[in-house]
Amino acid sequence: MALVHKEVIKLKNSLSFKNQAFINGNFVDSVSGKVFEDISPVDGNLVTSVAECDIEDVNNAVSAARTVFEKGSWSRMAPNKRKKILFKFANLIKKNILELGILETLDVGKPISAATGDIAACAACLNWYAEAIDKLYDDVAPTRDNIIAMITKEPLGVVGAVTPWNYPLLMAFWKIAPALATGNSFILKPAEQSPLSALRVSELAMEAGIPEGVFNVVPGFGPTAGKALGMHMDVDKLGFTGSTEVGKLFLKYSGESNMKRVSLECGGKSPNIVFADAPDIDLAAKNAADGMFFNSGQVCDAPSRLLIEKPIKDEFLEKLIEYSKPWMPNDPFHPDTAMGSMVDKAQTARVLDYIETGKTEGAEIIAGGKQVNKDSGGYYIEPTIFKNVNNNMRIAREEIFGPVLSTIEFDGADQALEIANDTDYGLNAMIWSNDLNKVHKIAKRIKSGKVLINSMSDGDMSVPHGGYKQSGFGRDKSLEAMGQYTQTKLTWIELK
Ligand code: NAD
Repeated sequence: MALVHKEVIKLKNSLSFKNQAFINGNFVDSVSGKVFEDISPVDGNLVTSVAECDIEDVNNAVSAARTVFEKGSWSRMAPNKRKKILFKFANLIKKNILELGILETLDVGKPISAATGDIAACAACLNWYAEAIDKLYDDVAPTRDNIIAMITKEPLGVVGAVTPWNYPLLMAFWKIAPALATGNSFILKPAEQSPLSALRVSELAMEAGIPEGVFNVVPGFGPTAGKALGMHMDVDKLGFTGSTEVGKLFLKYSGESNMKRVSLECGGKSPNIVFADAPDIDLAAKNAADGMFFNSGQVCDAPSRLLIEKPIKDEFLEKLIEYSKPWMPNDPFHPDTAMGSMVDKAQTARVLDYIETGKTEGAEIIAGGKQVNKDSGGYYIEPTIFKNVNNNMRIAREEIFGPVLSTIEFDGADQALEIANDTDYGLNAMIWSNDLNKVHKIAKRIKSGKVLINSMSDGDMSVPHGGYKQSGFGRDKSLEAMGQYTQTKLTWIELK
């Protein structure tokens, strides 16, 4: 959408915020009456105070979600009727795209152009699953003649989701859309840094005609509200997106409670392998910079380990430095800004600490490396590139989750593959080469949920997203995600 700076600022200045929990179709204070401060990283100012949910609020949301699920007003609604309501929900999101985008920019400091792009993607995601639900058939098994064996998919019941701040609504909608489409009730615990768009969207869910209790939002902190959802005895499934460390906790919560299903979309340290025979070195360099610095590098599948084949190393690094320049951070509310702020003060300190670690480990900074725009009161870091990194350094092994690129040189395909797989993570990988044989061989052996060849983007709802190894398991997007919100029933009928 074409954005005009004046209009963005006008709407931003006129907004009021939904800051209570949304349970059973109503905005309510937290049972304890507690609130937490929502600070914008754009300028360090308080945006609003938000209801701080805990166990009792989560209990209320689960009870509402269970009641409506058993009543069947959503769970047993004809799929083509659910479809129409979800289409309406998607249209309302599109109608309010600028407002929702502004809420996300305020909360996490991403550029308004990217934020509105994310909101458009949420509507597209809803439409995609809505379109699918009245076109999927169940199965009849090839049994003997006097038997009818029906294998049907049923919704799970109450689905909880705990989500991160880097794409506040989009990561949530990758779960909300397939879960609602298949008839479940839903409870979202958004990240404490970014609750505002989820709360506003819950109003739109009601306006679209989703019955009360089917969609609930419980803002609050992870160790309280998030844990309460993970430990709840009446939540059937918990979809988590966030760090590997917290993902492991959700497996524990499940084992200590009702063995609820868990799917985990966790961290990454994805290799971006550029061979000397890449079809277009310039394009590969531009993509390496764009892929790394988009969203201030706060992207789970960012190409954060750049592996460059020795013969093109110097040429490639020169191009990379040039392509990092348009990513200097700027005012997130200006439509021309490419990179905004970091999400908050804590994440800024963490990233700066990694930059210091890289220097101490012996890597060399060739671009950026500093916090900038401090006068704004917000939190901004330059696009930063390290050279002479080896894969044992912490800046090559740990997820920095900021605009910091570690570049590593390699000699030949075998070494590239060895370095690529030498990581605890396995979310994404990119290969740039013209040699089809080499590309296929490596793509098959890379241990990651995605391999992109001569490309940096897999932006299509029809393909699955998810990890190998400690990047998690389960898949968002595509029809595969629908299986995560349904269970399989066999009905065996014996004919006389
Ligand atoms: P995080 O793990 O700190 O928080 C994610 C969510 O978990 C938040 O809602 C938080 O409140 C909650 N949480 C925190 N501690 C908890 C606890 N003890 N019990 C229950 N819930 C708890 O992650 P983050 O900082 O919000 O997001 C960044 C991380 O998310 C990165 O590691 C990134 O790679 C990952 N991520 C992964 C994907 C993916 O698709 N694989 C997508 C986006 C982000």
